[in-house]
Amino acid sequence: MVENVVVIGAGVYGAAVSASLARRGARVIVVDAGVPAGGTSGSTFSWTNASSKQPRSYHDLGVAGMAAHQKLAAEVPHSDWYHEGGNLQWAAGDEEREKLRRKVAGVLSYGYEAHWLSRAEALDLEPDIDPAELPADEIVHFPREGWVEPAGLIGHLLSSAVSQGAELVTNDAVIGLEVTAGTVRGVRLASGRRLCADAVVNCAGPQASMIARFAGLDLPMRNTRGVLVYTSPVTVPVSHVIHAPRVHLRPDGAGGLLLHTPAIDGAVRVSESGEISADRSAVEDILEASRALYPKTRAAAVESVRIAERPIPGDGLPVLGRAVELPNFYFAVSHSGATLSVHAGDLVAAEVLGEDRGDALAAFRFERFRPASR
Ligand SMILES: Cc1cc2nc3c(=O)[nH]c(=O)nc-3n(C[C@H](O)[C@H](O)[C@H](O)COP(=O)(O)OP(=O)(O)OC[C@H]3O[C@@H](n4cnc5c(N)ncnc54)[C@H](O)[C@@H]3O)c2cc1C
Repeated sequence: MVENVVVIGAGVYGAAVSASLARRGARVIVVDAGVPAGGTSGSTFSWTNASSKQPRSYHDLGVAGMAAHQKLAAEVPHSDWYHEGGNLQWAAGDEEREKLRRKVAGVLSYGYEAHWLSRAEALDLEPDIDPAELPADEIVHFPREGWVEPAGLIGHLLSSAVSQGAELVTNDAVIGLEVTAGTVRGVRLASGRRLCADAVVNCAGPQASMIARFAGLDLPMRNTRGVLVYTSPVTVPVSHVIHAPRVHLRPDGAGGLLLHTPAIDGAVRVSESGEISADRSAVEDILEASRALYPKTRAAAVESVRIAERPIPGDGLPVLGRAVELPNFYFAVSHSGATLSVHAGDLVAAEVLGEDRGDALAAFRFERFRPASR
């Protein structure tokens, strides 16, 4: 019987898995090498969506992830981490416009909510955008999308877990797992402490492959670095996630804007001493693009730049649930964790405790990485 579960990592996944396990009656220890939300979950664009997810199984997981956020926010008074403000997206150039058309047609065929808007209709939703920055038409609105503030979400999930008996261990890294006869028996921490485990859940984000190695498993990851630019507070009421050709932005909890583009991720520099930074001119460019889009944000300045690592399994899809060759070791690892974790974490927790129904995780199992001959 599973009694003691050790959850490794206190980001969105570790917090979601721990809260669900504790609610289901397990004795949980969640352990982090640093502090909760100190990893990728503390520096993420955290757009909740399913429009960017293919194949169908991944899209459906995204839809379920968004529904789980909505349900949680409806259940918890003052759940101010969840913002279902909608997403506006448009493209520049024939090729990009055609790509966007294909993407929208694809998700509409799945029954996902999306509407094509004219410039005037988009301005009704975001009146402070400079009309000259918008095309006359083909602006897509995904009304059910939005964003989460992961620190608030993690705070809620962990306090819910702790109030149901979970223990939170911080600043103590997992340095090894004790595996005998195809079973994980214990978890060794840098402090020298040993945690007895009936089950272990790997929620270590970008470090998930290292934890898997401790268990003798090879989890291929192709993590990438992302750059996020936080502005000083602005005086315009931006209420949507915006995906414009030169800048992606959304409100940030502190009254400013959070800016990103795929292009700025290419501006990461690593110095000889190993210091990681973003090229200053790329940061200025993205700030300028946001000011052009929202002229009333002219006075906004860069408040901080954060660089974080996306935990991306080798084929880009989530890795969730039990490892067949080590049946009490579980994965909860993916990109898009801000969208997926509340739902996917609950599915993983149910499986840990043998309460799963059907195989909702079939498309995301670790075994897909094993050579077919084995
Ligand atoms: C630039 C950027 C933009 C993104 N945009 C989006 C988006 O728009 N929408 C979306 O859904 N997702 C987005 N993501 C991805 C999303 O943020 C991640 O999928 C999610 O935060 C991962 O959460 P996690 O809990 O798996 O990892 P983390 O938050 O990194 O948590 C893992 C934890 O494990 C701990 N840990 C590591 N090693 C050990 C060890 N040995 N012992 C103990 N603890 C350990 C770490 O300290 C850390 O706290 C983005 C990510 C980035 C970087």
